[in-house]
Amino acid sequence: MQTEELIQQADKVIMGTYKRFPIVLVKGLGTRVWDSTGKEYLDLVAGIAVCNLGHSHPRIIEAIKKQVKNLTHVSNLYYIEPQIRLAKLLVDNSFADRVFFCNSGAEANEAAIKLARKFAHENLDGHKYELICMRNSFHGRTLATVAATGQEKFHKGFEPLPEGFRFVPFDDLSALEEAISDKTCGVLLEPIQGEGGVIIPSEDYLRGVRDICDRHGLLMILDEVQVGMGRTGHFFAYEHTGVKPDILTMAKALGNGFPVGAMLATEKVSQAFVPGSHASTFGGNPLAMAAACAAVETLLQEGILENCRAMGGYFLDQLAGLMKKYATIKAIRGKGLMVAMELHGSGEEIVLKCLKKGLLINCTNGNILRFVPPLIISAGDIDQAVGILDEVMREI
Ligand code: PLP
Repeated sequence: MQTEELIQQADKVIMGTYKRFPIVLVKGLGTRVWDSTGKEYLDLVAGIAVCNLGHSHPRIIEAIKKQVKNLTHVSNLYYIEPQIRLAKLLVDNSFADRVFFCNSGAEANEAAIKLARKFAHENLDGHKYELICMRNSFHGRTLATVAATGQEKFHKGFEPLPEGFRFVPFDDLSALEEAISDKTCGVLLEPIQGEGGVIIPSEDYLRGVRDICDRHGLLMILDEVQVGMGRTGHFFAYEHTGVKPDILTMAKALGNGFPVGAMLATEKVSQAFVPGSHASTFGGNPLAMAAACAAVETLLQEGILENCRAMGGYFLDQLAGLMKKYATIKAIRGKGLMVAMELHGSGEEIVLKCLKKGLLINCTNGNILRFVPPLIISAGDIDQAVGILDEVMREI
């Protein structure tokens, strides 16, 4: 079927929850993808911070191929070797003692909300259930995670939303402390707000949140769905801060494209979940676990974090050069390879023009260009991307 025909058919049979670009992608390798006409693109979207090791990474392909021959799915009624291996890898490389597996970021956050409530029910006077969340945050599209998301545009039309979520401005410790009530059981936040526009808080903010949680007996829950798995230059973003959460969620890059999510917690908090408390048919599925084991091992063994830190710095320097040339650029910011260019006006035209010139980038919040490339990106790739951006901005 030709590209136009495919797009016409898609627009008839797929629900219209996405505004899509008019290309059909058919192949990916490293930092590149190709469309159905054979056109090549440099991919700085990476499935929205998912393909951190690049497309078609040989170790992921090999792990999935090997696993698919042995066992694709059973059930959590039985022990599954790759699930145990992944849990051990995550526990050995984090603050956590135990892991719950699911299939997406929203599910990981849903699990975290349930664990926080269950823990509070059993340990904190029995009547605390409220989470303090941040304005401008994003935690997913299930009803509870929409309710925890601090952006009204995601709430509209879905009311009444589940109760128990209170909002304060991000990066404001006094507002957070003032919002604590006799119902509060925890604080849920992203270390860097991703969908909200790559908003990086002050350096000591997370330390301040930890301190408030400790003084008031609250759980600190970090949503590392977007910033985890090396995106900021450490395996987890909290590692930059010297503090540890009680609960953490991850997904996106955990399987480098294979759908998988996880919720990590300390032993004390994990004890609130017992058989029957929570479950997922596909969570911890052997194929997903094999892909994720390979993704975590590759990330930690092959110098990817070092490359992320070096290329993140290089990318910011190059973008700073563009900022000197174009007054339309309001700000440049980033941590590792989570990079943003904030514009005075809309970013949509730039995204479209870049697409035409073979560069995939993403615009969030209308005016913030977000760059979340594979962490294996090279200086040559970055030069090419910045060259295309330069051309497009000159034209506009
Ligand atoms: N949390 C954060 C911080 C995210 O960025 C996202 C997705 O963008 C989610 C949760 C939801 O993840 P998923 O789309 O896998 O449900």
